[in-house]
Amino acid sequence: MGFGSGAGHPRGDRLQSLRRLPRTLPKLGLVLLWGSALVLAGCNGTDAPPPDATLSPDPAALVSTPLPNPGPLQLQVIRGTEAEGNLVASTLILGATEAILVDAQAKPSQAQGVIQALQASGKTLKAIWITHGHADHYFGLTAIVAAFPDVPIYTTPAIAAEIQTRTPAFLQVFQQNFPEEQVTAPPLPMAYSDPTLTIDGETVEIIPLTQGDTPHQAPLHIPSLSTVIAGDVVYGDVHLYLREALNPEGRQAWLASLDELAALNPQQIIPGHASPTYQAPGLEPLEQTRQYLLEFDRAVAESATLEEARSALMTRYPNYRYPFLLDSALKTLYPEDAAPDPSQDFPESAPEDSPEDSPEDLAPDL
Ligand SMILES: [Zn+2]
Repeated sequence: MGFGSGAGHPRGDRLQSLRRLPRTLPKLGLVLLWGSALVLAGCNGTDAPPPDATLSPDPAALVSTPLPNPGPLQLQVIRGTEAEGNLVASTLILGATEAILVDAQAKPSQAQGVIQALQASGKTLKAIWITHGHADHYFGLTAIVAAFPDVPIYTTPAIAAEIQTRTPAFLQVFQQNFPEEQVTAPPLPMAYSDPTLTIDGETVEIIPLTQGDTPHQAPLHIPSLSTVIAGDVVYGDVHLYLREALNPEGRQAWLASLDELAALNPQQIIPGHASPTYQAPGLEPLEQTRQYLLEFDRAVAESATLEEARSALMTRYPNYRYPFLLDSALKTLYPEDAAPDPSQDFPESAPEDSPEDSPEDLAPDL
């Protein structure tokens, strides 16, 4: 999940949003979606969590779900809270003696739940894998590395470069909005080029993909468990973050990524974000994500206005979490329909985006 920009919309629109954000919405009206930036919950005033939810991190509130997997490896999913944890998954792959952690939560305070689960497992943390370069998946590294100082952190070379580029801007947002977290720059993942990881002799395959909710994603496939840890290529009952796949080509590329995961024919898929009650067997999470992308395509193609498109998608997905993610995408696609902000004073004639946003282009979007 994140907040960047896609092709084909005016840079001025997002710069205006940035400019006016600190002055027009109180901090407590925000929820931080760590994908890449501040996203306004309650852009329409209805979707924000209780105001104090962002100020009282409670590691015990992390949802921990042991998954019933026979065989040499076990999985444990630890999911951030709905109010402040973005429902983001951290997954422990547990072998007889070793553990690999996949994704590290957003806030260091939220990562405490991951640390507790690792300590309770009694396993040796062998490595941490980061699935993509959105901050909600790696800013908790600060706390995890403090507890496990020697553990190597890996991701693909493309994602490592992206994280290096984006981290300074993420850090600025973090420090400005959550000073109580006292966050310093998290350790950066090392570029890992091998096609697999191993844990207690078992193989974990790395599946580099070219589009999910950000252009580079690296899910893991565990053949012995017939499981894919999907990162933000697959969501579960949560509106997709589409700001980095706003044009049809981006969504086609995301669909192609889903095809690649489907070809693995996993019996279990762990979405990067999912509602607390989400359960779907086999390929269903993947198919639901595919359907959402197609429905979004159709709604945008058939709708003349933002409200028309929003209505079509909210009717189709009335119970999906975080509707403001949908609003965020639609406001960019229908800038003429987005509610004007009387306080914004940024010039309307800002330069246009390039057709493809680079990570460097996205970073200042915070
Ligand atoms: Zn995410």
